[in-house]
Order: sequence, then structure tokens, then C-alpha cells
Amino acid sequence: MSSHVWCHGTNCHKSHTTDRVRGSKGSKVLRTRKVKQTEWNTGDRRNMFSYFCSNGCYNDFANANIERIVAIAPRTEPLETPIEVVKETATDWHNQPYVRTKIVAVDNNGE
Ligand SMILES: [Zn+2]
Repeated sequence: MSSHVWCHGTNCHKSHTTDRVRGSKGSKVLRTRKVKQTEWNTGDRRNMFSYFCSNGCYNDFANANIERIVAIAPRTEPLETPIEVVKETATDWHNQPYVRTKIVAVDNNGE
């Protein structure tokens, strides 16, 4: 496996940071950053930082390709999580009772 990949950010090579400057005087460029592949972003730990140098580059890529990204797993219906709404009496810092509402996820997998 290669020790790095090039950042997939669509504008990575346009950010004015000194670490992106390459070339000699008179022919300098801003170059896309390398994304180092480490134990923290490879294998089972593969994540956005396996391919992008920053959240900004990830957002640039996502915004430029948003229609294709959502087409991977279209959401045509809402998802739902079974819950119970529980009202319980508690006391505040002044030891006064009040009713608080808790939302508790219901695990239906065990049924
Ligand atoms: Zn980048």
C-alpha cells in the first residue's frame, strides 16, 4: 500500500498555505496536500481523513459531488427509532420538585 494518497479536496491546491508551495523561483505552484496513511486511517479505521487533509476539503468534495453521493443510498422515506417518553419527578438545585421528560430508546431486537 502506498504511504500516502493525494487529498481529494476540489480546492486543496488553491489554499494559500506555505506547506502547499512547491517549485523553484519563477515557477512556483500550490500543490494538493498528501494525506499520510497511518494505522489511524487505514484498514478498519478508514475514514474521511484517509482521503482528505481537512474538514474543509471534505466539505468541498461533498458539495461538488452531492447529487452522486446521495444517489449511493437514496432516502425516500424517513427512518424511525422506537422510543418511550417517560415523565419523572426530579428536584432542582433549590430542592424544588419538577417534572422532566426523558426519551428512552426501546430495543425491539430482543423480542
Ligand atoms: Zn486538502
